[in-house]
Amino acid sequence: MCIFCKIANKEIPSYTVYEDDNFLAFLDLSPITVGHTLVVPKKHYANLLELDEATAKEALNVARKVALLLKEKLNVSDFNIVNNCGENAGQSVHHFHIHVIPIYKKGDLEFKVQTKKLSDEDFKKLHTKIIK
Ligand code: 5GP
Ligand code: ZN
Repeated sequence: MCIFCKIANKEIPSYTVYEDDNFLAFLDLSPITVGHTLVVPKKHYANLLELDEATAKEALNVARKVALLLKEKLNVSDFNIVNNCGENAGQSVHHFHIHVIPIYKKGDLEFKVQTKKLSDEDFKKLHTKIIK
C-alpha cells in the first residue's frame, strides 16, 4: 500500500487540516513554505490523468477550500497550487495529490524555466497536430 493510502487509512499519522468523505488534506512533511499542504483523494489514483471527471472536479474544489482555510488562518493571500503529473514532471509519490503552497513573498517558490522560441510556422504545425 502506498504512503498516502496509509495516511488516508490512518495507518500513518499526519497533520490533517481538512477531511471529507473522499479527500484528505495534510501538512507536507518537507514544506516549501510554512503551511504547505497536500490534497489527496482517499482512493488511490496514480496521477491526475487516472482520475474520473467527478473526482478531478472535487480535487480542485478541495484545493480551493484548503487555500481559503490557510488564507484565513495563516494570513496569506497568494498560493502556488501545483500538481506534478508523472516522474519526469517531478512526481515522487505516485498517489495523486495537489500541492497547496502559501506564497508569503515573491521568490518563495521559483520555477526555473527557459522559454522556447517558436516561429509562426512552428506554431501552425503544432496547433494543427493538437487539434486535428
Ligand atoms: P511530489 O514530488 O510527488 O509532487 O510530492 C510529494 C510530496 O509528499 C513531497 O512534497 C514530500 O515532502 C511529501 N511527502 C512524502 N512523504 C510524506 C509523508 O509521509 N508525509 C507527509 N506529510 N508528506 C510526505
Ligand atoms: Zn495510494
